[in-house]
Parts: sequence; C-alpha cells; structure tokens
Amino acid sequence: MPGVWIFAEKKDLAQELLTIGRELASPIGVKVTAIVPDQGDQGDIYIAGGADEVVLLSPLAEDMSLDAWLPVIAAEAKKADPDLILLAATARGKDFAARLAARLETGLCSNCIALHREENGTIVMERLAYGGAAVQQVTCPTRPVIATIPPRTFAPAPADHGRLGEIRKLPPPPPSPVRVIARKTKERSSQDITEAKAVICVGRGMEKQEDINIARQLADLVGGEVGCTRPISEELHWLPDDLCIGLSGVQVKPDLYIGLGVSGQIQHVTGIRGARVICAVNKDENAPIFQAADLGIVGDLYDVTPKLVEELQKATGR
Ligand SMILES: Cc1cc2nc3c(=O)[nH]c(=O)nc-3n(C[C@H](O)[C@H](O)[C@H](O)COP(=O)(O)OP(=O)(O)OC[C@H]3O[C@@H](n4cnc5c(N)ncnc54)[C@H](O)[C@@H]3O)c2cc1C
Repeated sequence: MPGVWIFAEKKDLAQELLTIGRELASPIGVKVTAIVPDQGDQGDIYIAGGADEVVLLSPLAEDMSLDAWLPVIAAEAKKADPDLILLAATARGKDFAARLAARLETGLCSNCIALHREENGTIVMERLAYGGAAVQQVTCPTRPVIATIPPRTFAPAPADHGRLGEIRKLPPPPPSPVRVIARKTKERSSQDITEAKAVICVGRGMEKQEDINIARQLADLVGGEVGCTRPISEELHWLPDDLCIGLSGVQVKPDLYIGLGVSGQIQHVTGIRGARVICAVNKDENAPIFQAADLGIVGDLYDVTPKLVEELQKATGR
C-alpha cells in the first residue's frame, strides 16, 4: 500500500514534515505515517498535525546512537512499503537518511526545497544546485523515494484536534554494535538566527570587528539578531560559524533582513531567500545584493547605519 512516512526526532520538525507529507498524500488518498520517538505525549499532536498513523519508537539508552533505530525502521518500511519517506535535513537527519536509503537499497535526495507528485505518480523533488544558482529536479526510479528537507522549509500545519488516527509502538531496538562513549555540546553562539524575526547581516564592508556594535545596536532596535557572511566568520573569525548565512551556513527566514556591506553573492543570497523583506546598504550601486533586495540604500554603511539607528530611536522612543 503506497503511503507517505515522515521521520523526525524533534516534534517541531515532525510537524513541518507533516505539512508536505499531507500535501503529497491527500490527492491520491494514501495514509501519512509519522515515525517519532515515544516522548510520552502519545502522539495525538501528530494526528492533529496531519498524520493518519503514529508509530512510536522506544526511547534509546544513554549509550545508544540514533543508528540503533535503523533496523527497526527499515524492517517496518519493508513491511509497510511506503512510496515516500521524508526526514529533516539536520546533520543527524541527513546521516540517518543515507543509512536508511542504503538499507532499503533505494535513492536519497538531500536538501529538497519542494516536492510534487506528477499525474503518473512520479515524485519530483527540487533542490538547489551550482551554489544556489539553479534548481535541480530529481526523480528516483527505486522505491521508496527518500528525501531530506531543511528545517523551516514548510510551516507546521494548524492543529486539527478533531482528526482521528491510530497510534502504535514499535518493539525496542536490538543491541547495537555502536556505543556512544561521550557526548559533548558543540560550542554555539547564544543566538539562534534561524528563529529571529529580524536579522542584521554584517558583511565584509565592515572595516573592524568593533564596528559590529553598530549592527548590534540596529538589531536591538528592531528586536532582531546579528548574522554575517562567510568571510566574517570563517576568514576573520569576528563572529561564530553558526551566525554565517548562506549555502555553507544557515538559512534564515526573518520578517526583515538588513545587509550592511554585503555584496550579495549567490552563496549568501541562497540563505536569505525566505526573508519577507530584504534591505541592503552598499556603497556600490552595482552590487548584486540590490537585485535580491526589496529596499536598497546606495551609500556608506558608516553614514547610513547611524542615521537608521537615530530614526529608529526616535520612532521607538528608545
Ligand atoms: C562553495 C562556497 C560556499 C559559500 N558559502 C557561503 C555562505 O554560506 N555564506 C556566505 O556569505 N558566503 C559564502 N560563500 C562566499 C561567497 O561567495 C562570497 O564570497 C561572500 O558571501 C562575500 O561576503 P561579503 O559580501 O561579506 O564580502 P564581499 O564580497 O567582499 O563584499 C563586500 C561588500 O561591501 C561593500 N562595501 C565595502 N565597504 C562598504 C561601506 N563602507 N559601506 C557600504 N558597503 C561597503 C562592497 O561594495 C561589497 O559589495 C561561499 C563560497 C563558495 C565558493
């Protein structure tokens, strides 16, 4: 029986995947199954979010890795035979998806930004190629089709508590040859720019590290966070890597993005496409960022930014 599966470790990611899972399942009347860790909430939330069936995975022991669930999920997939499995394109999700695809001897399309079903049933997946300059369409001749989707690509569906569905549990995973011997927290900046409502992006047009303070001032006034281009984090080490926006960094989806001294190369613009309003301050009127921007100011950021700060202070009374 064809059907759509979604698998995610985190509730919010599972809810996002349910949105696209539902979209692909409803037109052909097949079931959406959410495979999620058993966190004691009994899965009602996933049924309200669009799942017809929730399959709960037993919690893993402290020394077990995510891989321990692989044989259980692969065996279930062989039995249920879904035609599509969606996972979140997090570091762990992508790793897991590749292992699952290998076990099921099928293909995997990573970082899909859109998916649709053709009339003949073929699932077409879209992903960015050539550093974001082109969109590639991918189909997979083997079954099931497996795809990973970057977080925040789809909004979670509004909860419908009237929906009905089935909830069941899978058996605990068998002993795994992989043992987790230590867990270390990755050093991160305290801000999460992927969730920010406004992002002020510092580009190479900024001359000194201490000048980032003017971007911070602007960010505080608009209730946002500071992000940066790759040269600022990777080459100059002025800001941590997790604030780098773009192809090799994070994707942001704020209501407002302001680029200060950002040229707007495609690898950066790829990470800001989801922003509702893009503003740019650049002294070069031919800078590519102006092609992506809704509002552009041609000028020196050292003249323009203090003026923006002053106007916002007047407007907000701060
Ligand atoms: C495989 C690959 C992956 C990449 N991934 C990423 C990524 O994820 N994110 C990313 O950002 N980049 C990425 N890059 C790098 C990317 O190609 C660009 O080099 C980078 O985005 C440029 O950063 P920038 O705009 O800060 O610097 P620059 O390109 O040097 O631009 C600086 C801009 O500031 C302007 N300027 C200078 N002084 C002032 C001033 N006083 N006032 C106003 N404007 C001023 C200039 O006119 C210029 O347009 C990647 C590259 C590759 C090859």
